[in-house]
Amino acid sequence: METKEYTNGEVTIVWNASLCTHSANCARGLASVFKPREKPWVDPHGATTEEIVHQVRRCPSGALTTYLNTEKP
Ligand code: SF4
Repeated sequence: METKEYTNGEVTIVWNASLCTHSANCARGLASVFKPREKPWVDPHGATTEEIVHQVRRCPSGALTTYLNTEKP
């Protein structure tokens, strides 16, 4: 299971490539963070932690999740 992590120091975005259905909901909803044409495609500094958490919850496949760095599993 390939996962990648991107953090702004406060929140960490976890992306599971094998679950991603490339629906691009994330890019449409928060284009300053989720940039499918760039590498790396996630810029965790492109929005506030609150905006990131809100958008990640809308990922339909479950490929995106977040955790707060203070609650690192
Ligand atoms: S919203 Fe989720 S499933 Fe859709 S492209 Fe983004 S990460 Fe992949």
